[in-house]
Amino acid sequence: MLEKLAAMAPPIESVLDLLGHYPRRYHDRTRQAEIADLEVGEEATIVAEVRRVSARVIRNRKKMVEAVVEDSSGLLNLVFFNQPWREKQIPPGTEIALYGKLEVYRGKRQLTNPIVDVLGRAGDTKTGVVMPIYPQSGKADVSSWEIQPVVALTLDWVGELAETLPESVLTELKLIDRTTAYRDIHAPASGRDAAKAQRRLRFDEFLRMQVGLVARKRALEAEASGIAHDVDGELVPRFLDALPFELTGDQHAAIDAITADMASAVPMHRLLQGEVGSGKTLVAITALLIAVQGGYQGALMAPTEVLAEQLHAVATDTLSTLVVPSEGTLLAERPVSVALLTNKVGAPERRRIAAGLGSGDIDIVVGTHALLYGDAPFTKLGIVVIDEQHRFGVEQRALLRGLGEAPDVLVMTATPIPRTAAMLVYGDLDRSELRQMPPGRTPITTEVVGPSPHDRQAAYDRLRAQVAAGRQAYVVCPLVEGSPKIEAKAATEEFEALSGGELYGLRLGLLHGQMKSVEKEAAMAAFRAGETQVLVATTVIEVGVDVPNATVMVVEDADRFGLSQLHQLRGRVGRGGGESWCYLFADPNTPDGKARMAAMVESTDGFVLAERDLEIRGSGQVFGERQAGLGDLKLGKLPRDEKYVLFAREAAEEILDADPGLAQNRALAEEVEDLLGDDVEFLFKS
Ligand code: ADP
Ligand code: MG
Repeated sequence: MLEKLAAMAPPIESVLDLLGHYPRRYHDRTRQAEIADLEVGEEATIVAEVRRVSARVIRNRKKMVEAVVEDSSGLLNLVFFNQPWREKQIPPGTEIALYGKLEVYRGKRQLTNPIVDVLGRAGDTKTGVVMPIYPQSGKADVSSWEIQPVVALTLDWVGELAETLPESVLTELKLIDRTTAYRDIHAPASGRDAAKAQRRLRFDEFLRMQVGLVARKRALEAEASGIAHDVDGELVPRFLDALPFELTGDQHAAIDAITADMASAVPMHRLLQGEVGSGKTLVAITALLIAVQGGYQGALMAPTEVLAEQLHAVATDTLSTLVVPSEGTLLAERPVSVALLTNKVGAPERRRIAAGLGSGDIDIVVGTHALLYGDAPFTKLGIVVIDEQHRFGVEQRALLRGLGEAPDVLVMTATPIPRTAAMLVYGDLDRSELRQMPPGRTPITTEVVGPSPHDRQAAYDRLRAQVAAGRQAYVVCPLVEGSPKIEAKAATEEFEALSGGELYGLRLGLLHGQMKSVEKEAAMAAFRAGETQVLVATTVIEVGVDVPNATVMVVEDADRFGLSQLHQLRGRVGRGGGESWCYLFADPNTPDGKARMAAMVESTDGFVLAERDLEIRGSGQVFGERQAGLGDLKLGKLPRDEKYVLFAREAAEEILDADPGLAQNRALAEEVEDLLGDDVEFLFKS
């Protein structure tokens, strides 16, 4: 049995794993029907033993599995279409729970494609009114009735569990105690008890996270050794006054918040959220200038070389007319100087940058992660702006600390995250949102295009017409998860096919991740300059490539992409060059895929799409890989459990107010450490 448990995915190897292996649902015997009593057309639940099972091939080489089950009242037929594995799953002698609607087919009573829970071998029947149904682990083949006694023994053996919540929180939120919760989630006396147990343990999941995040946030704030920037200089007003447009209200608010953060001696750790085109770059440049006007240096870090180059170009351009004081020069001033540092930058330029940073002649360095690894010897680093989607890890934070004396940090993300979800993912950062888009965006029509050549041709016709009118277009090639090589190959083939086929006669360019950076840069430059009319590319273009003249986008196999990724991609058009079109080539055959395509057609608002994404996929998948702990939600789910996030946040703050090092709450401290690992371990005193 232990080997079987250890072979499950995820493996059950400890008492905690076992107790944390919660039932997926419950089967309430008081609501269970007898086969003889079932009424045609009625939904019902029964528990029965499998008598016979067989499979045969029907039309279109599809498999049909038929079974006969029996309970104390009679026999019933089951029919499964397209579920060939059922034959092995429910051999004769298996006790199963069935949920379905009774039908009559050719005079026989049957359930078609019912929901099946395998309970175990007949005869192992457990008593109790509510039966826990555990998640099935196909390969390990552990049935609910096998797990149940092991869990029961374990619960007996561990006895009282340490309570992780202070009495005050338990009372306030009407939560049951831990020991009861663990007992009742596995062996509830009623459905109500099971629900109460789930409620308590679900709260615990959110609380652990919030305690970790709040503790981390407070630890960062406690480092009061940051820089109190002089925010009353002239550089920022001069820069803002010279802009050819008005700031949006959200940009104003973000700049105000950043200014306040930077004026304070507490190091800034702020997240700036705003979708592509919402005007984050401008806010970032303002933050850099706040540092520069006080004599500090700034770093602006991009996730890719292409983006770093682009940001560098924008920064140089925007700042070209601004000057800073400079002793020893004729006019006692010089232009703000911005350097670019990527892996492509050669030794002589690196030496120049190092010297400039040393003498204070360089104010801002734009670059890739290279910046973090000692390639830019800042002497007075005052702020680091990080432009990327993904979370900036603890490891990198440590590196940052090494670069300067606790510089202010601004992280930008173009991935809109619903507010409560952000409290999970970025709960240790302060946040500003740019929800309003600057004026000048042009409408985008989105269409889902099926596999018919006729429909595709219509999309290519539009593309050609736009190119003929002087516009440009993107063709985005399929995503190949985990293989940039295959992806590149597919893009190259698509490029060749289109060049000689549907887009024959147009000037096509190719861009993918496997190209050398010079080649990539050349491809981008040619597209930017309008020399190539159509850019055939992989998702390399997802982040930040800005060519307003592009008005058509075709996405191949669009249903392979996630919703936020599609939204990012689509953001490459509609950037002011006129009415735009996005064609999603897709033939989705999953409900998920269909829902994603529908969402793309319905909305162009990133925050709306982010909410939809969360609804469609659930928090586990949306955040699964983003951060330790988030994939750990077993009972909790967003957006359903938003209230829990808010309550957990409050409770976490209350607990840490009263007991900052969690000295009085050791059980809780240990669980948070287990969840978030090294990230928080240093925060609590033991
Ligand atoms: P992001 O970095 O969020 O993707 P950008 O900062 O690149 O967005 O802004 C997109 C475009 O909008 C740029 O061309 C920028 O100059 C312009 N822009 C930014 N803020 C405003 C504004 N308040 N009004 C008009 N245009 C703006
Ligand atoms: Mg940007």
